[in-house]
Amino acid sequence: MTRILCLCALGLMACNKVPYTGRKQVNVVPGIIMNAAGKQSYAATLSEVSVMTTGDDHQTLTRVGKRISKVANEPKFDWQYSLIDDPTVNAWCLPGGYIGFYSGILPTLKNESGMAFVMGHEVGHAIAKHGAERMSQQIGVIGGLTVIQAWVDGKSKLTPEQKTVLFGALGLGAEVGVLLPFSRMHESEADVIGMMYMAEAGYPPEEAQQVWVRMGALGGEKPPVFLSTHPSEKQRIENLKKWLPQAKKKYARAKLPGDVTGDRW
Ligand SMILES: [Zn+2]
Repeated sequence: MTRILCLCALGLMACNKVPYTGRKQVNVVPGIIMNAAGKQSYAATLSEVSVMTTGDDHQTLTRVGKRISKVANEPKFDWQYSLIDDPTVNAWCLPGGYIGFYSGILPTLKNESGMAFVMGHEVGHAIAKHGAERMSQQIGVIGGLTVIQAWVDGKSKLTPEQKTVLFGALGLGAEVGVLLPFSRMHESEADVIGMMYMAEAGYPPEEAQQVWVRMGALGGEKPPVFLSTHPSEKQRIENLKKWLPQAKKKYARAKLPGDVTGDRW
């Protein structure tokens, strides 16, 4: 309790409410730091890969991205969308709205609606500040206020482990929000937000479950990166079913014209 009061007094703690689920969370890492870290990681990641800047797939990603980010409605984000030419089955949205999709995930998305769900899921992680929350927990574990004070004072009495976490928070490690897995709770939460966002953007929310069915079918001995964290696709589908009626109401009001579930990949 003392630590929380101290952090409040320093103005370093923010209490946020997660969209749709309403869960309350505590973040000690300011949004401005997370977004700067996201921007830096985005540039570092893109400098090492081949980004597709033309073609139908690139256009589709941009179109879906703009629709989802409009619904997410976060003016502090500097929304950007990149399609990366790489067989990896993965996608991410870094703090600050920096989105990357690998071309290897397209066959699993299958259509524009599938892309809208995964986009919504990744944006959901960023909007619900899961990265900052994870960072806050790590900072808490290794000594809370001491670490933040050391950072504020510029004193360097940190252990290598503490430095790793702190440098990650400051965006000095390229892995922020990309390589570190989210918890089971964060994944379930991002699924719910993703399905709500896609529905509000005019995509049929039933497709969300289908994405996990297809993702599960990839399984095999070595699951794709996207599946390397729990919960299982079966648990994800059960969770999505509970929220489907609410998502359908949103979809009824926002339904897009044209074919958004036809096979694309
Ligand atoms: Zn996720």
